[in-house]
Amino acid sequence: MVLIARTRLNPARTALAAGLALLTSVSSPGRAADLTETERAYVAQNAPFTFCVDPDWAPYEVINSENVHVGIAADLLRLAASRAGVTLKLVPTRTWEESVAASKEGRCQILSFLNQSPARDAWLIFTDPLFVDRNVIVTREEHPYIENLSDVANEILVLPTGTSIEERVRRDFTKLKVVTANSEGEAFGMVSQKKAAMTMRSMLVAVHTIKEDGWFNLKISGQVPGYENKLRIGVAKDLVMLRDILNKGVREISAAEKDEIANRHVAIRVQSGVDYDLIFKIVGLLGTVILTSFFWLIKLRGLNKQLRALAQTDTLTGLANRASLNERLQSEFERFRRYARPFSIILFDLDFFKQVNDDFGHLIGDKVLIAFADIARNVARAQDVVGRWGGEEFLILCPETDLEQARVLAERIGHEVRGYDFVLGRHLTVSAGVATLVAGESSDGLLNRADEALYQAKHDGRDRVVVSASP
Ligand code: GH3
Ligand code: MG
Ligand code: MG
Repeated sequence: MVLIARTRLNPARTALAAGLALLTSVSSPGRAADLTETERAYVAQNAPFTFCVDPDWAPYEVINSENVHVGIAADLLRLAASRAGVTLKLVPTRTWEESVAASKEGRCQILSFLNQSPARDAWLIFTDPLFVDRNVIVTREEHPYIENLSDVANEILVLPTGTSIEERVRRDFTKLKVVTANSEGEAFGMVSQKKAAMTMRSMLVAVHTIKEDGWFNLKISGQVPGYENKLRIGVAKDLVMLRDILNKGVREISAAEKDEIANRHVAIRVQSGVDYDLIFKIVGLLGTVILTSFFWLIKLRGLNKQLRALAQTDTLTGLANRASLNERLQSEFERFRRYARPFSIILFDLDFFKQVNDDFGHLIGDKVLIAFADIARNVARAQDVVGRWGGEEFLILCPETDLEQARVLAERIGHEVRGYDFVLGRHLTVSAGVATLVAGESSDGLLNRADEALYQAKHDGRDRVVVSASP
């Protein structure tokens, strides 16, 4: 916007109508880069250098109706070139694909602003990042928050064709179905119209597009760590000296200058005439939007944690459920394999529980299960994992516990149950099978032995603990 104002005063504008914009190195405040004699001579002899851009990538860069390169990338490139004392000449194109083709064919020496990727390394060399923007996932409103994209399976992710992240996304998120769209807008449209579940874009582009194009049923649903867009200037592979010179310019741009440029474009519509009042309002609004987004991000993270806890808990007793027991069993099993620390389990089954249901009803039966859960939880030690295996069966995982110690724990729980007043006018008992993991045994093998010992306890008359002999 400030840029437009400046361009309007620029006499070189007449050249723009001819379709060729000459980007002169304007003297801007800030340190000029230190060029060597050879570099200076190279610039004097070869400038201006030609560059191609993405003509339709707001707010990063666009070629506007007057054939001027504007946007964040335009300002950054201009600044880097100016700090390096280099003049550039825009070779206008209608699409990004056309720019890539022109760059490959040597019709432009520079690509203004792009991610480095293995495919692009084939014909380009790159400067340090001009700008770093992180990637976010954009979904429809109703999509749940995505904490980790690797966990998402069988959903369609749409990307515009020709992006550098496509290669990586296909490699990193094999559970997703990746499809491509012809443009950024088409990708957003596919998500909006339920033809795809999500798209992945840079945060600045997403905020800008959702706002500008009014995608009201879309939102940012999560981030993709490690997927930062490190946007660099790409230079034809054989022009190493030009790359090094531009890099010196890039390094002279401070973080504050980058932020200032980004804010200018994300907050402001390109229009003529500077309405500072409007600018302040929009910057304020944007700040609020960003703050609220972060608030929700944090809140959603908390809710996700709660959801995870719920998914691992048995609703009746509040103990670990079977899925959670299996998970813990597996991690204890791995620990045993690696460190050979003792690990035992106890499987409990309430005796004649069906009779309790039959005589007193299911609700009272449930209360008995809750009472047993409390007893087991109270008697077990802090490191034990007490869970409901199913129905009236309970499993206790006992890390750092040998067979004898586990047997003692099982006996203590049996003893407590025997003496407990369930307010039924009768006493209840429990049977238990105990087993300790031995080298070479699988976790299923261990469970089987505990089950067989429990069966033996039932067979021997119930209300007892049976220890499984090592296999
Ligand atoms: P045994 O001593 O051989 O274990 O006899 P049992 O009656 O305890 O064993 P059985 O397997 O025949 O019966 C278990 C009963 O537990 C049957 C089922 O209705 C009851 N049950 C399972 N889950 C629940 C529950 O969540 N609540 C209630 N109230 N009862 C349950
Ligand atoms: Mg049973
Ligand atoms: Mg039973």
